[in-house]
Amino acid sequence: MSRCCPSNQSDKSEQSSCCGGAKGRTVLLYACSGGANVGEVSDKAARELMFAGCGTMFCLAGLGGDIDGMVQTARDADVNVVIDGCPMDCAKKTFDRHGIRDYRQIKVTDLGIEKVKGVRCTDEQVARTVARCREVIAGKGGGTREAGVDPSRALYQLRPLPGG
Ligand code: SF4
Repeated sequence: MSRCCPSNQSDKSEQSSCCGGAKGRTVLLYACSGGANVGEVSDKAARELMFAGCGTMFCLAGLGGDIDGMVQTARDADVNVVIDGCPMDCAKKTFDRHGIRDYRQIKVTDLGIEKVKGVRCTDEQVARTVARCREVIAGKGGGTREAGVDPSRALYQLRPLPGG
């Protein structure tokens, strides 16, 4: 796994290189984690970004399940990065249903990756999605900006989060 940002908060001075231009922002990563290959891409991309220190993966199912504390966590985040596998937009619609508008969406099929059932995704597809997510988090274009958040302010902040 490539590593672009340190996971140690004492090294925050180094974080501006790829995942954002400001310190102390909370970036949460939500993947649709659907059953098709593009859902697997979304899931693996979110995890790779988390372990590279670009954000904290959080449970989309918690929002779908109307878990109050988890919905509030999404509301409180500086940036929510929503990774959907396909135009069904399941993760985006989950945010919309809760009236949470300050997210940026990446859609895996928009990256030239075909949705196919019953096959595994490839490392290249995950890498392509991770690269686009990094651009979005760093405010370098891409994604669908819904409202409210200047993505150039986005940077991860590791902190305890309720429920996963
Ligand atoms: S966005 Fe597409 S891939 Fe993701 S869960 Fe929904 S239908 Fe499945």
